[in-house]
Amino acid sequence: MSIGTKHVDLRQDHWPQITARQSQQCLIEVKVDNCIFCKIAAKQIPSGIVYEDEHLLAFKDINPAAPVHLLIIPKVHIDTLSAVEQQHTELLGKMLALAPKLAQEHGCAPSRQADGSLAGGYKTLINTGPDGGQEVYHLHMHMIGGPKPWRGQR
Ligand code: 5GP
Ligand code: ZN
Repeated sequence: MSIGTKHVDLRQDHWPQITARQSQQCLIEVKVDNCIFCKIAAKQIPSGIVYEDEHLLAFKDINPAAPVHLLIIPKVHIDTLSAVEQQHTELLGKMLALAPKLAQEHGCAPSRQADGSLAGGYKTLINTGPDGGQEVYHLHMHMIGGPKPWRGQR
């Protein structure tokens, strides 16, 4: 099931001859075809890609909340954090582990100052479901950092 995604049921009228199993596959494909982040992962629409490997993509948020605002996504479509399964554990670890590497590359990793104090830093965030503020239903982790002020924060 996909939360917040309106599916067109291709079983009705159009292809009455296909089997139930085939029709379920049709529903899944329509869902992924309509996913903006799947389209970004497939390079069907442009985005400011900053990192790519076999499993993950990271790109600049179109509406940044801070000087550095990146989105880390799995290339495989997963609706939301609540839909992850045991098989995704390694993938989630890779997403989290990518954040400090990107922070380093984008100049927002925490660092020790000459006086011994810490400066810099970033936030990692996965919004989940309507009450969690999730707008795009392809699992993604925000990496937000850079000099403050950030939008909505001091
Ligand atoms: P959510 O609220 O689902 O956690 O965050 C979705 C994020 O995706 C938002 O910060 C929004 O600005 C970003 N976003 C939505 N559509 C696009 C797009 O087409 N390209 C890029 N680069 N970011 C997008
Ligand atoms: Zn997707």
